[in-house]
Amino acid sequence: MSATLFRNARIFTPEDTGGPLAGPRQGRVVSHDPGALLCRDGLIEAVGPEREVLAAARDAGRAGSHAKEAVREVDCGGRCMIPGFVDPHTHLCFLEPRETEFLRRLDGVPYLDILAAGGGILATVASVRTASEADLAEATRRRALACLRLGTTTIEIKSGYGLSTEAELKQLRAAAAAGRTTPLTVVTTLLGAHAVPPEFAGNTEGYVDLLAAETVPAAARAGLARYCDAFCERGAFTPAQCRRVLEAARRAGLGVKVHADEVHDTGGAALAASLGAVSAEHLLASGEAGLAALAAAGSVAVLLPATAYALRTPYAPARRMVELGLPVAIATDCNPGSSYTESMPFVFGLAVLGMGLSVLEALAASTLNAAYAIGEGAGAGSLSPGKRADLLLLEGDTPGILAFHAGVSAVAAVYAKGVRAWPAEGSHP
Ligand SMILES: [Zn+2]
Repeated sequence: MSATLFRNARIFTPEDTGGPLAGPRQGRVVSHDPGALLCRDGLIEAVGPEREVLAAARDAGRAGSHAKEAVREVDCGGRCMIPGFVDPHTHLCFLEPRETEFLRRLDGVPYLDILAAGGGILATVASVRTASEADLAEATRRRALACLRLGTTTIEIKSGYGLSTEAELKQLRAAAAAGRTTPLTVVTTLLGAHAVPPEFAGNTEGYVDLLAAETVPAAARAGLARYCDAFCERGAFTPAQCRRVLEAARRAGLGVKVHADEVHDTGGAALAASLGAVSAEHLLASGEAGLAALAAAGSVAVLLPATAYALRTPYAPARRMVELGLPVAIATDCNPGSSYTESMPFVFGLAVLGMGLSVLEALAASTLNAAYAIGEGAGAGSLSPGKRADLLLLEGDTPGILAFHAGVSAVAAVYAKGVRAWPAEGSHP
């Protein structure tokens, strides 16, 4: 048994009432100043006003057994404490970012021309297919540690650069390994329907057949994915093709997500709603009907403002979603092309200053709602008893420092399952 008492903190946590926060409750936060948090064996045991938690800790000690339990104390120095970030949408499992392509895009070369010349996602697919699983796992591990230093303690990682059964499973294994080789909690998602691989050019239906009949069942059988995702967009997959893949996923016992309406409103949001998807992602071009359907279905909208920033497109209509009662989450979309960032603090800043969420709405979007978007609501996303003691100490007095101190990370210390994960123990936070 190991217990840690965090005291002298300004605690801000979304209120978890058993689901994501939406509408006027999107910014619903509980705060304690001074607050304290007691964790035992990696789980939160008590959190609240410091006086109450100290009393609870003493009572627990007296009621405890003969062996005197050592309670380690961490004086938070009055810093702001929030839950660890949950990044619910990443493509972290790749070798190299496509920097040259970035420069070409800045020179005005259209992405479709880059793609036609074998660049873009197809270049990443080629390198992931030939990479060893060990190299892929190591690249993912290092990138996951970069996320951790920026405050992410739970992360979703998608496949989607293999585009064959064998290579997709290799990617999922390499992604899952990061959950064992780092302090992060990792959730994996099969995204075989990310792009049509070169050997199926002109035969998208044939590739969808392969996904539905072989890749999806194989990933589910091997226990390598919690979710299946599909990229519903012109030039990628139609709603009918996505539906075939995602219905196969549901039959195999996987949850469902959709990359929906990133560039055009092709009905992705409506598709996600009709399948009872846990989340729909991007949603830059969704119409009102699609958004309302998602809200009615109880799906979470996962918004990716760093992608809009990097592609210089308008942000998703986050305020309208809040008005419609659709729970909003935010994610990095970390990938080698359109959003090369591991930084949830950066995304937090964009959500506030770019998309118009309030600081407290962005807090729920980056923690609790994000956790529910990947099936981790019971274990992460808020500072609540019974959840993992994943928490951050910030350099400022409120979560607003994340948006205010721009271009850097205001995360001063990261604890995962009650253990300091960054900076290393012995150095000062
Ligand atoms: Zn994505």
